[in-house]
Amino acid sequence: MLKHEVVIIGGGSAGIATAASMLKRRPSLDIAIAEPSEDHYYQPGWTMVGAGVFEAPVTRHTMASVMPKGTIWLHQAAATFQPENNQVTLSDGTTVTYEILIVAPGIRLAWKKIDGLEETLGKNGVTSNYRYDLAPYTWELVRTLKSGRAIFSQPPMPIKCAGAPQKAMYLSCDAWLDRGVLGDIDVEFRNAGGVLFGVKEYVPALEEYVEKYGIGLKLNQNLVAVDGPGRQATFKTENGEETVGFDMLHAVPPQVAPQFVADSPLANPESGFVDIDKFTLQHVRYPNVFGVGDAGSTPNAKTAAAARKQAPIVAVNALSVLDAKKPVADYDGYGSCPLTVERGKIVLAEFGYDGKLLPSFPKWLIDGTRPRRLSWLLKSEILPWVYWNGMLKGHEWLVKPQVKKAA
Ligand code: FAD
Repeated sequence: MLKHEVVIIGGGSAGIATAASMLKRRPSLDIAIAEPSEDHYYQPGWTMVGAGVFEAPVTRHTMASVMPKGTIWLHQAAATFQPENNQVTLSDGTTVTYEILIVAPGIRLAWKKIDGLEETLGKNGVTSNYRYDLAPYTWELVRTLKSGRAIFSQPPMPIKCAGAPQKAMYLSCDAWLDRGVLGDIDVEFRNAGGVLFGVKEYVPALEEYVEKYGIGLKLNQNLVAVDGPGRQATFKTENGEETVGFDMLHAVPPQVAPQFVADSPLANPESGFVDIDKFTLQHVRYPNVFGVGDAGSTPNAKTAAAARKQAPIVAVNALSVLDAKKPVADYDGYGSCPLTVERGKIVLAEFGYDGKLLPSFPKWLIDGTRPRRLSWLLKSEILPWVYWNGMLKGHEWLVKPQVKKAA
């Protein structure tokens, strides 16, 4: 049996940022991170890979290189939780006890929920920016398509980066416009939801691009089956089912809580995500357990930007609980979705709980509701650098936690 002061499950954006933030505050802390993957991904970069702006390898670093100095890396997946005994069991059967547990295994991509999709990904014109190995295929399809029908699908919420399905579409349309073939391509956005984007202030700018590119917007359409070789996609609609042919399909999988979390005592009974308080990010039944990132039950936009804001909140609150005190910082629900409406311009959606706009910059510098070149510069140059050198290293530029009392 292993024993550590703090155990973190998952070495993704949220897990690494939280470990780094805790160590910045208390360098002597004994932290172990359970993470089976050899690689760490900057997933926000995959939209840019699918548009030929980034090469895929720039979005991947070795896990060893991002593990904060001073942490112990357990190269195993967590399998089960025994929170009554302050214990987690890893996939090789090792048990680890903790004083504080932080659960950050992300969200599960449920490809199999769409019949026939998984086996045709990467061929037959079927792609998805939601996988590292497939994002380059998106760009290959965009580069080579000259005519026909291109469908971009979006599953029901929750999904990580809710804007990513349409970001892929706008950048594809921009490339086709540039090549002079957009007029010969019938582009459709088939969204399981009932609106183009969930926060109304950003919708007018997006609608202008839907119009500019001549996109067929189809709401309440849920992709349920794909016949790759036959190039047919079936959608559940309000009037039954509709099967349509395609030349290119950018599919986004339904997304659910990781199964081992949903099956555990830590799960929210309805969603299966880690059942945490939406402000303190502390578990609602086990005070020495916290959730952070996409795996949490909080109703924010599931984004790396949200993880960037949550990590210091969890760090401060977990250290407070470790010192036998109460949580002292609140998360406001901040998440961000840079909507790449064309190569060189972005509508920078930044909002918190209940759709409250939470812009990081004054309106005269960046009006997030309008397409802006400066926002593109942020996404293409600045944010990747901030991710690798700031967020994963525990530097908290722009994200100082709102501490109510001294921790
Ligand atoms: P992840 O970063 O997914 O990490 C989870 C980690 O947990 C992984 O390393 C995994 O191996 C590990 N794990 C899984 N199961 C276990 C287990 N049983 N035991 C131990 N470890 C486990 N966000 C933005 O802010 N802006 C964007 O523009 C943006 N665009 C996106 C575009 C795309 C195409 C995609 C896919 C995502 C995008 N996101 C964006 C979302 C962002 O990448 C995620 O919200 C963020 O990575 C969440 O961090 P996380 O640590 O919760 O999960």
